[in-house]
Amino acid sequence: MDCFSYKNGSLLAENVRVEEIAGEVGTPVYIYSKATFLDHLQKIRQAYGGLDTMICYSVKACGNVNILRFMADAGSGFDVVSGGELYRVLQAGGDPSKVVYAGVGKTDTEITEALDAGIGYFNIESEAELENLIRLAAQRGKQAKVALRVNPDVEYKTHAFITTGKKETKFGVDIERAMKVFADYGENTAVNLCALHVHLGSGGKKIDPYVGAVEKILPLIDRLRGKGHTIEAVDLGGGYGADYESDTVPSAAEYAAGIVPLLKDKDLRLILEPGKSICANAGIMLTRVLYIKRGGRKKFVIADAGMNDLIRPSLYDAFHFIWPAKVDEKLVPRQRSEDLKIDGTEVVDIVGPICEGADFFAKDRAIPPTERGDLLSIFSAGAYGFTMSSNYNARGRAAEVLVDGGKFTVVRKRETYNDLIVLER
Ligand SMILES: *Cc1c(COP(=O)(O)O)cnc(C)c1O
Repeated sequence: MDCFSYKNGSLLAENVRVEEIAGEVGTPVYIYSKATFLDHLQKIRQAYGGLDTMICYSVKACGNVNILRFMADAGSGFDVVSGGELYRVLQAGGDPSKVVYAGVGKTDTEITEALDAGIGYFNIESEAELENLIRLAAQRGKQAKVALRVNPDVEYKTHAFITTGKKETKFGVDIERAMKVFADYGENTAVNLCALHVHLGSGGKKIDPYVGAVEKILPLIDRLRGKGHTIEAVDLGGGYGADYESDTVPSAAEYAAGIVPLLKDKDLRLILEPGKSICANAGIMLTRVLYIKRGGRKKFVIADAGMNDLIRPSLYDAFHFIWPAKVDEKLVPRQRSEDLKIDGTEVVDIVGPICEGADFFAKDRAIPPTERGDLLSIFSAGAYGFTMSSNYNARGRAAEVLVDGGKFTVVRKRETYNDLIVLER
């Protein structure tokens, strides 16, 4: 579910008309629904209720500290991939023991900070990284808990840039090498090598790869336990699909129905790192139409948001449903879909103001007729939207607004011109 719906032709975020937000805060603006975040978290928690599960929301998907704060209050742990993300979690009051830290290139500074914070697990990607962690932990007289990232080599259909679970990626080690890593480092006192981590990629729409990964991991766990190693947890990573189009991906309950039976009575704690399945549909980006332009047979809708604000269409060829924030009742979309056919729409390209051909949000898309000044909602923009935004073309980053029931709060101010140069003197 999400909390963005039309009432009398006007788009609401929970109980707030998004037009009202745009009027006060300007555009482009990211608008998040707190209830949607919490609902998605709760659904995952319920789905995996039969197991000892730690849910670690993936900060890189949408990491505003105000969002992390209410997620922490709701009991969420966090998946971080940098020192900066760990800093965000700590600032938000997150519980460090519920933090897992992945990433192939952790620096000494980042590792030291995570050791000092006392995070839950280091998700380790290579022997070289493990040796460095051992050195730094020993220096500080600490013992770090480690989940070894294993590459289960399963097929995961998504964009090539965001698949990570095949053999030929830079992520993790393969199953045979995992045996050797445990043999070599299992007795080391600076680390407690006690878990396995897999993360297959992002944007999948199927349960099978997860089931396949668990089926490959369980025999490995048996073999490791047979050699005397204690394996207390398995971290299945993130990448669970989000409905960029209505009802196109499995629900949390459906993933769980495939995964939970395999892990039942295995004496394993399950760690999950959901990102976009929690936040993609908890956010939209609102943009205002600046100009309409005709070129050849094409009609272009030129918006005030650009690829610096939301890069997913340019980078991943990602689909985002786009619709005006105010429409005739008969043009209210009943579902979000790439080939929605409604009478009274016209086919346009929706593009941004940036000097790049890649600066588009949609091509040949049917939307209701729009004119200068109209507001467009780019749906499912909560994940990898703001967090991937930049200042390209010296554009200040968009404001972020959090809606909670009938009220809204600016949780990040729009960047000013001065913000653009403040570090340059
Ligand atoms: C990016 C990432 C996630 C979250 O992925 P989603 O597709 O947003 O669910 C989880 N774990 C790791 C290690 C990641 O790199």
